[in-house]
Amino acid sequence: MSARNILVINCGSSSIKFALVNESQETFIVSGLAERLGSPEAVLHWQQGEYKDSQALPNADHRQALAQLLPIAQQAAAGELHGIGHRVVHGGEHFSGASRLDATSLQAIRHVAPLAPLHNPANLLGIEAAMKLFPDLVQVAVFDTAFHQSLPEHAYRYAVPQALYAEHGVRRYGFHGTSHHYVSRKAAQMSNLAYDASSWLVAHLGNGSSTCAVENGHSRDTSMGLTPLEGLVMGTRSGDVDPNLHSHLARTLGWSLEQIDTLLNKDSGLLGLSGLSNDMRTLEQAREQGHAGATLAIEVFCYRLSKSLAAMSCALRRLDGLIFTGGIGENSALIRSKTLEHLSLLNLKLDVQANARCIRGVAGAIQADGHTCVLVVPTNEERQIALDTLALLD
Ligand code: AMP
Repeated sequence: MSARNILVINCGSSSIKFALVNESQETFIVSGLAERLGSPEAVLHWQQGEYKDSQALPNADHRQALAQLLPIAQQAAAGELHGIGHRVVHGGEHFSGASRLDATSLQAIRHVAPLAPLHNPANLLGIEAAMKLFPDLVQVAVFDTAFHQSLPEHAYRYAVPQALYAEHGVRRYGFHGTSHHYVSRKAAQMSNLAYDASSWLVAHLGNGSSTCAVENGHSRDTSMGLTPLEGLVMGTRSGDVDPNLHSHLARTLGWSLEQIDTLLNKDSGLLGLSGLSNDMRTLEQAREQGHAGATLAIEVFCYRLSKSLAAMSCALRRLDGLIFTGGIGENSALIRSKTLEHLSLLNLKLDVQANARCIRGVAGAIQADGHTCVLVVPTNEERQIALDTLALLD
């Protein structure tokens, strides 16, 4: 059988990211973004090799944008499209792996939507439109939460009355599962270890960030929780705060839940600490020029990250290596080195030159001689979604 092609779709509330993945190629055949959907400025951009193009789609909705992008994908695949993989943020406890889309699985995705009220409805828009447009293609949902369904109960339960868990699903779910899964499997390959007999700490550091402990191919703990707000300092999310902050702000400042929600999700993290930007590149440049807020934001980001990694190590019985991935993890030698300064007790230390070399897509080992393995592994969530989709086709 010749290598198969999968179209990977990631729908937001006003955007659709897509990539055509061939199972035997690391690079995408074609990829693109439809954005500002539902507005007069709606536009579709795509790239195939060196060729780039865009097309205005005034007031197009998700279905109209998908109807435009499918012929582009089909042409790039020379008519050989074997399935569609949809990214879905939340699968609740219902999905511990990818699932073929049909009336039953769609109903289950709708059922867990209250756990991800911003994301799942947007994901569903794309799924429903794609299923109407391409009824004969196999379509699969791949969940950000599914990889973490292997967490033991002592890692996923909050210390709140058990009825909240049993009746309302209040527990830790974790996110970025597709990325944690992809890079930990890659790390095992790079280290000539069997994935199902290897042990990793993963730091996925992008605009959203999380850590994960992966043992024998299974997630054992992760820093995000019921929602992606828990855990690390992120671009605009606070990560962990004292849960009493809510009542403190309500009592002392009279703030509403909506205001506190916006504060913690949109105005905090690197942006809130620095008073400057949520973008790590901007902060690193500002730090060079002595910007106090940027310097503090970077210090807090790295210290909190190192604390989270040390905490994740409790879930492992052995450590084969620490993996950095995501826009920051793959590119920032500074963040990697400042984080590891706090982790010498785990025998983690970097080789300065190797650390500097592993940027812009260069993968490799960056630890100093005689120290625990540290790997930079570029993530590829689209490829993992395509692989999960192909596994169901098989
Ligand atoms: P992601 O969400 O994975 O696309 O990652 C976005 C984050 O990666 C932003 O904070 C970027 O500033 C950061 N990033 C990308 N390139 C670099 C770089 N060369 N140095 C530092 N941070 C970077």
